[in-house]
Amino acid sequence: MTEEPQATRLEINGIVQGVGFRPFIYQLASRHRLKGEVANTATGVTLILEGTEIGILQFLADLPAKKPPLAHIVEIKQTPAPVKGFTSFSIVKSRDSAVRATLISPDVRVCDDCLAEMRDPADRRFGYPFINCTNCGPRYTIIDDIPYDRPKTSMRHFTMCSRCQAEYDDPDNRRFHAQPNACPDCGPRVSLCDAAGKRFVSDDPIAEAAGRIKAGRIVAVKGLGGFHLAVDAVNAKAVERLRRRKHREEKPFALMCADLAQIRAIARVSDAEEALLASLQRPIVLLKKRAHTPIADAVAPRNRYFGIMLPYTPLHHLLLDAGFTALVMTSANLSEEPIAIDNAEALARLGQIADDFLVHDRDIYLRSDDSIVRHSAGHPRLIRRSRGYVPMPVFLKDELPPVLACGAELKSTVCLTRGRQAFVSQHIGDLENRATDDFLRLTVDHLERILDIEPQWVACDLHPDYMSTRYAAECGDVPCIAVQHHHAHIAACMAENQADGPVIGLSFDGTGLGTDGTIWGGEVLLADYHGFTRAAHLNPVPMPGSAAAIKEPWRMALSHLRAAFGEDMDGLDLPLARFADPQQRRVLLQMMEKGINSPPTSSLGRLFDAVAAIIGLRGTVAFEGQAAMELEMIADGNEAGRYEFTWGENAGGAIAIAGDALIRDVVRDAAAGVAPAAISARFHNTLIVLFDQLCRHLRTRTGIDRVALSGGVFQNDRLLVGLTRALKKSGFDLLTHRLVPANDGGLSLGQAVVAAAQAGGA
Ligand code: ZN
Ligand code: ZN
Ligand code: FE
Repeated sequence: MTEEPQATRLEINGIVQGVGFRPFIYQLASRHRLKGEVANTATGVTLILEGTEIGILQFLADLPAKKPPLAHIVEIKQTPAPVKGFTSFSIVKSRDSAVRATLISPDVRVCDDCLAEMRDPADRRFGYPFINCTNCGPRYTIIDDIPYDRPKTSMRHFTMCSRCQAEYDDPDNRRFHAQPNACPDCGPRVSLCDAAGKRFVSDDPIAEAAGRIKAGRIVAVKGLGGFHLAVDAVNAKAVERLRRRKHREEKPFALMCADLAQIRAIARVSDAEEALLASLQRPIVLLKKRAHTPIADAVAPRNRYFGIMLPYTPLHHLLLDAGFTALVMTSANLSEEPIAIDNAEALARLGQIADDFLVHDRDIYLRSDDSIVRHSAGHPRLIRRSRGYVPMPVFLKDELPPVLACGAELKSTVCLTRGRQAFVSQHIGDLENRATDDFLRLTVDHLERILDIEPQWVACDLHPDYMSTRYAAECGDVPCIAVQHHHAHIAACMAENQADGPVIGLSFDGTGLGTDGTIWGGEVLLADYHGFTRAAHLNPVPMPGSAAAIKEPWRMALSHLRAAFGEDMDGLDLPLARFADPQQRRVLLQMMEKGINSPPTSSLGRLFDAVAAIIGLRGTVAFEGQAAMELEMIADGNEAGRYEFTWGENAGGAIAIAGDALIRDVVRDAAAGVAPAAISARFHNTLIVLFDQLCRHLRTRTGIDRVALSGGVFQNDRLLVGLTRALKKSGFDLLTHRLVPANDGGLSLGQAVVAAAQAGGA
């Protein structure tokens, strides 16, 4: 090792701007007695280091290990540089025009340093609900444009006081270049008003709001990515009133607890779940309920889980200081509309729901719902990917041309690609109304602007009537590629795992248009990014009443019973009879017989619905997938039995999986009085054995030994755990979702990579 001065140049890509990265570099360089400079560039930061060889080596070792919490290093390129004889290490001012392609940090939870200051009566930010620093606070939701500087954020309306400015300018300060930096003298403020917008005079609006929640009132709380509706979770009357006013009959409400100890008192928390709860992202984590809790039943009826999160903004902490067992914190919207973000908009839209409004004067530029995660089969699985995760890209194996993928219809997201990065948007919602459609457009514009991406290709679903498909068609001169729904699911799973095809793709969900014009959803595809063949699928049955069959699972039950028993079902004595009278059933059977409004479907999600209805669990649902979810919830963990199944090859060489033997077994069990918990377990066990066998059969036939699991059905923990175990035991290389949802929230990623492959980019 030489004592001669050496020089090296580093280009670092990733989330390295607006997260305290340059001060960190400055301090690290000083520690190892290195001279040189650091500057922000188009793709990250560039730095030149001069000093001893050992000093540079130690710097390089410390760099990834000691980086600031919000920094995310994607790539470090090191090249030799000439020794120039720097006399100090300096932070060089960046040139605005250069900073276009860097990554923006997601919004993350308030850090411990800031919390300690907020709790310290001697600190000038004591009790201040907008305290933040370079290691924490809002990012994505307050950015209007790039480069990420205060004038391009919703903080531009607040001029920093001299003390805040001094912190902002000091490289040794935790708030050096913290764009949302603020204090009670110069920053945003909260206030409390009634449903008419009339302001209450109060020294402490947050404590006042907490008092009102304690008294059983519904308070709309403006947060990071939108408004929440807050009620006291132990007050059954308040929770029920919220349900009535929000027109949300059954979907579980999310809870927020002050700390882990409080969460443990109402739910079971594993080490992995604890890590998720406490993570920077602070998602809602689905946790098994404890048997006896003070939480009102109406919070999560007929559900074995609570969705719980820890506070993530300083305001949440202050609110929970009032001492709640838990707060219901549900997105403030009417069912199926996007979350409200604007004060005036919130008053207009939520005036009939909330009694009081706890608002503030920092604008939210882009709404962002809470993310939802469930730990399943050894990994966190995203059910909704939004706040805390977006706009962190999914890193791909290969470079792609710029593509805009418009997603599906329900749980919609969009995706933009740039090089090896795919940016999946926050949860947009169900594209069934004007408000969500507007939000889709807003999100695309916003992402294109802050990521500086001009798409050369547009991707959409094969379904011509989806709002997202129509939006894609409007993109005019940019060529549009339609991607089959279940192919997109499998491609999304491959892409986030940076895996090449071909794979055996199990693509299981509720609904998606197939290439033959029928409704698919129980598909086994041999797929790569370019295309697929449909190797196997469930035998199609009619969906009587089309979309009505999604809302009314008893219709699917009738259809599957007809397939299993023929028209003559009079002898069957089933709990199903509760859901429809003989006249209704006759009408439906005739519809199916004549093929009126009864499109065939091979959907596995609909088979779950059918079984749930046959055993009397549910005849109608309030949201898609509810019956299937409840079927999973009741499954007996100790039941090992299973049912019959058969499959046969059809004329085209594809395998058709028959559901009739299985349905007959379910009916026999139900008639014999077997507990629904056991029937559900046997049904799940059957699917696990069936698809493991099928994959092995296809491996023998094709030599493909890699399996990808995708589609909304894989939110089912029992199925995911069981199939993972079985397929691994069979020696398969298994790909599952960890970065984007298995449901349609991940679909846009798959559309993007398929379109790129078909366009010749990969
Ligand atoms: Zn902080
Ligand atoms: Zn200030
Ligand atoms: Fe789907």
